[in-house]
Amino acid sequence: MSASRDSSVQHPPAALTRRDLLRGAGALAAGAALAGAGLRPAFGDEPGAARRRALRLAHLTDMHIMPGRNAPAGVAACLKHAMALPDRPGLVLTGGDLIMDGFETERESTKTQWGLFVDVFKHECGVPVEHGLGNHDIWGWNKSKSKATGDEADYGKKWAMDVLGLESWHRSFDRAGWHFIMLDSITQNGEGYIGRLDDEQFEWLRADLARTPASTPVLIVSHIPLLAACVYVHCKDEESRKAWHVSGGLMHTDFRRIRELFLKHRNVRVCLSGHIHQIDRVEYEGVTYICDGAVSGAWWKGRHYNCDEGYGLLDLYADGSFDHTYTTYGWKAQG
Ligand SMILES: [Zn+2]
Repeated sequence: MSASRDSSVQHPPAALTRRDLLRGAGALAAGAALAGAGLRPAFGDEPGAARRRALRLAHLTDMHIMPGRNAPAGVAACLKHAMALPDRPGLVLTGGDLIMDGFETERESTKTQWGLFVDVFKHECGVPVEHGLGNHDIWGWNKSKSKATGDEADYGKKWAMDVLGLESWHRSFDRAGWHFIMLDSITQNGEGYIGRLDDEQFEWLRADLARTPASTPVLIVSHIPLLAACVYVHCKDEESRKAWHVSGGLMHTDFRRIRELFLKHRNVRVCLSGHIHQIDRVEYEGVTYICDGAVSGAWWKGRHYNCDEGYGLLDLYADGSFDHTYTTYGWKAQG
């Protein structure tokens, strides 16, 4: 395993920092200090409690598989790397953009890409996997380019659901004492999309969190970041506009209501995303938001900004803390 060259991803986990705080100042005093600083005390943090690992998982996002650029071998190499770790993950989560593109691509090419994706996972992923949806996994929303009419039985989000055997893109499950929520970030906007949970999904999320015991830590996966810092490098003209302008396609436009919901559920610990093909980590109001790079780097053309081809490796602990490392797998772009 080789860690990313980007030292910005090597932070100690937030929970450790908080634990150090608690150890030094005493739980009550530290809790008061955190509250005074506008931060919630750490979830489940008990001074002196053993930090027992509950689960190790790999988060593979933005694989963008396609016939060219040696992409199938790249996805296979990534999975082989994760599966060969001496301490092998017990679960794979994918973060969407599984194929290069179906959004504006005709049927035959989309079919080829899904064939490659299913084949690689069948042969290389030896542990349970839960798939997330990305914008490029939707078939035909750009009707002019895809030549879709919208009346096809497998139009839109349905094709990928059928291929992967899913009944819904948003869903939740429990494993190893943690609660996992897979969100569908992609809301239609003309022939394009924006990052948003539709109202029905938002109400589902509200109910799902309400059902989850407050003592159960929660991990959330979305394709588009709920909150990220790296999206700002895609803004332009901010000086002449005298304002930053983040596209609704880059970050969830409904983050403010999601944030308000999270304030009621302090067991939401970590939110993983992809889409930007960059790595960042935002600590905000007791939740860690990680934009987790891309298996494909710059769509199989090398590194993107400072992000090498890689995946997230997470250790989840019973006390609600976690460690995250962005892990490269030694891929050399050939495209
Ligand atoms: Zn995307």
